[in-house]
Amino acid sequence: MNGFSENHLFNTGRVGSIEVICGSMFSGKTEELIRRMKRAQFAKQTVEIFKPALDTRFSEENIVSHDQNAIPCTSVEHSGNILLLSGSIDVVGIDEAQFFDDGLPQICNQLAEQGIRVIVAGLDMDYKGIPFGPMPSLCSIADDVTKVHAICVECGRLAGYSHRLVSNEKLVFLGEKEEYQPLCRICFNGHNI
Ligand SMILES: [Zn+2]
Repeated sequence: MNGFSENHLFNTGRVGSIEVICGSMFSGKTEELIRRMKRAQFAKQTVEIFKPALDTRFSEENIVSHDQNAIPCTSVEHSGNILLLSGSIDVVGIDEAQFFDDGLPQICNQLAEQGIRVIVAGLDMDYKGIPFGPMPSLCSIADDVTKVHAICVECGRLAGYSHRLVSNEKLVFLGEKEEYQPLCRICFNGHNI
């Protein structure tokens, strides 16, 4: 992971922390979140992922992966619900964090102060290239930030932008993946002049 080291987070027992995994669409954010959650699960730590309830693309209760262990996943309406539901959990994952309310950073701080490891994944920029929802604040308060990249579909450079292929001004637009494509800065700017 590009020199990223999590080791220092775990040297002194149950110390809470906040990790952020951010990037564009198709950058593997959720995959990286699940990798970290499953590694914790293997070490007998209790894990659960929370998603904003509006993300209707994922209606399943569990995120199922290729092996036997599914990660419990709960949709919540408000960030405050995560605090209420996290009492017995060692590692709290939060996916699609960009769609949560502005209270999420404070909730993450409270969870970390309770000794919980919090791993947040989300889009850092919206389709216009503007910092998305609570993600900038989450990056600021995080102990570690990992930015993952997609590959630009037009030139093959690393991509950080999620270009929307259909005209729809709605910010929360949960289209199918065919409606977005990852672009690098140069190609993104070429589409937005
Ligand atoms: Zn490009």
